[in-house]
Amino acid sequence: MLNKEKNRTTFKDVAGVEEAKDEVVELVEFLKDPKKFQRLGGRIPKGILMVGPPGTGKTLLAKAIAGEADAAFYSISGSDFVEMFVGVGASRVRDMFEQARKNTPCLVFIDEIDAVGRSRGHGLGGGNDEREQTLNALLVEMDGFDTQDGIIIIAATNRPDVLDPALLRPGRFDRQITVNLPDVRGREAILKVHSRNVKLAPGVDLGVIARGTPGFSGAELANLLNEAALLAARMNKKGITMAELEEARDKVRWGRERRSLAMTEDEKRATAWHEAGHAVVNVLLEHTHPLHKVTIIPRGQALGSTMWLPEKDLLSRKRKELNDLIAVTMAGRIAEELYTQDISSGAAGDIQQATAMAKAMVMHWGMSDKLGMVQYGDNQEYVFLGRDMIRSKDYSEQTAEEIDREVKRIITENYDRARQLLLDHRDRLEMVAHALLEFETLDGQQVAEIVKTGKLTPPPPPPETGPPTGAPAATPLPEVPKPLPPKLPPGLATPAPVVP
Ligand code: ADP
Ligand code: ZN
Repeated sequence: MLNKEKNRTTFKDVAGVEEAKDEVVELVEFLKDPKKFQRLGGRIPKGILMVGPPGTGKTLLAKAIAGEADAAFYSISGSDFVEMFVGVGASRVRDMFEQARKNTPCLVFIDEIDAVGRSRGHGLGGGNDEREQTLNALLVEMDGFDTQDGIIIIAATNRPDVLDPALLRPGRFDRQITVNLPDVRGREAILKVHSRNVKLAPGVDLGVIARGTPGFSGAELANLLNEAALLAARMNKKGITMAELEEARDKVRWGRERRSLAMTEDEKRATAWHEAGHAVVNVLLEHTHPLHKVTIIPRGQALGSTMWLPEKDLLSRKRKELNDLIAVTMAGRIAEELYTQDISSGAAGDIQQATAMAKAMVMHWGMSDKLGMVQYGDNQEYVFLGRDMIRSKDYSEQTAEEIDREVKRIITENYDRARQLLLDHRDRLEMVAHALLEFETLDGQQVAEIVKTGKLTPPPPPPETGPPTGAPAATPLPEVPKPLPPKLPPGLATPAPVVP
């Protein structure tokens, strides 16, 4: 039931979470020599709660603590306790502590503690007795051992708010350590750590990849390198080049290309115009993020995509930037209509995204002069570690109408701006759409060149017909787990905005 592993993980394997690391170094000292630590007057918590999004390295960090101290490492997942037959969960907890006591010094890691540790007495139909018994057993055991024994319990969760308060009392999990998504320097450090296991071609700059991956977790970055290695191997390259790293990044972020998806010529043309609309307006406006690339190769759920990448981590958004983003988002539908004289359902994702942005501007970011710096409604959607979604309306009907009007105004104004830009540059729009039909994918510079000069020199090589070289692969590449920051709806595939 418990995994006692041969554990050689050290702090060198954990990167980009320096603050969390700093907070746990003393645990290593403690595990190395609990008696000495206590003679010096140190007080060590029994239980530590690591809080953070999935894939940020909580398990890895716990393992590294044990590895550094040469202590035994036991791990179990909270869901393992509750998926048992009645009465088994509680006895598992007791077994676990018994084993731990026999093998000190040791570190016990409980992943997904929220599976057992949710507040008691809130379940439907009288609650979940099994889970409560397990939780009670855990509380009793935590109270029953002494830190002098040389046992440390670390539990991990991304929902600290749902935990039973009894778990967080002094003498239990009374210390919290937050493990955040890495910033750009952290991402570069994590990429470096994982690149030890793969072969990079000369000239690869991991800093560029780090800048192009805001919002990625450590696990996604590890995944990116792995995907890039697979791609390079499929193409019989000697080392991983920037091309594979970028393709792997796009795949992890936006889903894998689906070149085999059957699209009619009409759909292809409409998609080319739609994406060209996004791309041209992105290039023309001043406060947008650099255009990464635009493609009519289906990827994930989208028929085509226009991808922009912020130059650095987005810690806050500005009003001009948001207005321009909404204009870019509207531009797909506008271009489609200019070309087909009709409109399709393909803009659903764009509409949803633009509405969400405009609403946040009005309701949470104080960016509507009419409604002022007042928060309307609770802000839960934007809080990662939020409580259960309880939507409360804390404003009057009249205010609700005003909010609706302001949201509509913001969207309409930006729609009109985008429409005017596209009408003024109709020839360029047409050129980009034609280039997309011919070459399928254009990068940001190529679109900028067409918009500026009216031509593309030299043109990119025409796309190979059929799947990429070597594909279809004999074994499908492993699917990428979906990361937690909400993925944006298909259509204009932009990275998830980071909201402070
Ligand atoms: P969590 O427990 O927070 O969900 P994990 O520790 O299980 O995340 O991370 C999964 C894998 O992702 C790790 O084994 C490691 O390969 C990679 N990883 C995640 N975070 C980091 C990090 N900060 N530094 C290096 N690698 C990381
Ligand atoms: Zn779109």
